[in-house]
Amino acid sequence: MTEADRSDPKRCTGQRKDGTPCAAAVMGAGTLCYAHDPARATERDQARRKGGANSATRHRLARLVPATLRPMIGSLLDALREVRANYARRGHDKREGVPPPSPSGPG
Ligand SMILES: [Zn+2]
Repeated sequence: MTEADRSDPKRCTGQRKDGTPCAAAVMGAGTLCYAHDPARATERDQARRKGGANSATRHRLARLVPATLRPMIGSLLDALREVRANYARRGHDKREGVPPPSPSGPG
């Protein structure tokens, strides 16, 4: 950022949470930036939700899994959720068909 950018008259007049001036660029009419304009609160909220749904982590994970396996991963996750829900319903100590842990352990 250059000095010319800093002295741009179209800077936000809002305040950050720490009390310092915002100084972000103001797009369009008004004196507040996207983050400080109360009229855009709903828009910000929707963008935040969309951001969570399209998180980089989710996309990165999807890229790591081969395309042919993606539908199976979904089924596996569904099955896992079902199993967990069953355990939660019955209680963790009442699991059936699970052998008790070996005292010596494997190997
Ligand atoms: Zn601002």
